[in-house]
Amino acid sequence: MTLINQNYLKLQGSYLFSTIAKRVAAFKEANPDEKVISLGIGDVSKPLVPAVVEAMHKAVDEMAQAGTFRGYGPEQGYAFLREAILKGDYLSRGINLSADEVFVSDGAKSDVANFQELFSSESKVALQNPVYPVYLDTNVMAGRTGAFESGRYGGVIYLPCTEENNFAPRLPQEHADIVYLCSPNNPTGTALTRDQLKTWVDWALEHNSVILFDSAYEAFISDENVPHSIYEIPGAEKVAVEFRSFSKTAGFTGTRCAYTVVPKALQITDAQGGKQSLNALWLRRQTTKFNGVPYIVQRGAEAVYSPEGFKQTREVIAGYKENARVILDALKNAGITAFGGENAPYVWLKTPAWLDSWAFFDKLLNEACVVGTPGVGFGSCGEGYFRLTAFNPPELTREAAARVAALKF
Ligand code: PLP
Repeated sequence: MTLINQNYLKLQGSYLFSTIAKRVAAFKEANPDEKVISLGIGDVSKPLVPAVVEAMHKAVDEMAQAGTFRGYGPEQGYAFLREAILKGDYLSRGINLSADEVFVSDGAKSDVANFQELFSSESKVALQNPVYPVYLDTNVMAGRTGAFESGRYGGVIYLPCTEENNFAPRLPQEHADIVYLCSPNNPTGTALTRDQLKTWVDWALEHNSVILFDSAYEAFISDENVPHSIYEIPGAEKVAVEFRSFSKTAGFTGTRCAYTVVPKALQITDAQGGKQSLNALWLRRQTTKFNGVPYIVQRGAEAVYSPEGFKQTREVIAGYKENARVILDALKNAGITAFGGENAPYVWLKTPAWLDSWAFFDKLLNEACVVGTPGVGFGSCGEGYFRLTAFNPPELTREAAARVAALKF
């Protein structure tokens, strides 16, 4: 008899986006003349920048010639890209890592989902609430949690992130082996300051814990007090893995390229009390289960670090950040408290006390024809909050913002 992985049955159906789609479809059917604008999407709207496109065209031509054609590439990524990442994102910030600590992949989602495989199934996991759901669901699949009851999985340490703590999670009161931190954060759009992140690194060093640090939105940081990499904090190389992505940095959501940094200094204990290198284990895992990112895509990602590529991608990001500012202004005009949006493409607003996340969704849809994402969909501590994204074209963002600003509460 073939038995399934029973842990999959603990997973909760993700009703969030299907419920949104159903409500929007019903609204459109009842109001066929209304133009609905979605500020709910977490996907970019701008095309790849010219420097990236040019590099990819050149790589396509190379693939068409016998002398320059490439088949399977290195599982860890081509040296040219790992060197460009190292120089552009780390050495330039005074962070000393080596190219064999960088692993190129097809997405931060898959890496952050897969990395937990390296830890014991007994490991205790802590994560932010609200949260990017991948961290939680992959640990459920791996059997690291109990059943889902009263809105929570047993065995998971939830770290509330609300207005009361400025959306910065407090240290757990019990031991956690693995902590997921996402900064700048999806969904709250807020970011951890250097001091806040240092508190976590010091805690991990003291408790032999590992931090899985997702900085997929690093390129949106403008505050000097917000570190771009966790390795800006002394000692972090002994406790932290960092996940980065070209998705939002350079519009690669459909092209697929990301990378994960696993420092060699990061050693964890085996059952015999010996020390094991997470870098060596991740290399073993990737060479067994992954066959690398296409050459053409890696050449495109490399171009993000060229002077033109950097300038062009930063211009796109500046446009998204301007959208976030427009949204924040509109909310202020409507008398609504909002957070985030300064170091991230997400604005996290507080719904008026008499409207929960879903009631706010309905009001926004019915009275402004604007769609967003109810905060409660990201976890129980997201109740009473609502996410708007800055990824739309500017004219649509401005139109949506004007409608929001005109709302009466
Ligand atoms: N991490 C966070 C926090 C995200 O919000 C997302 C995408 O929305 C990802 C990772 C996924 O990145 P990628 O497109 O590289 O898989």
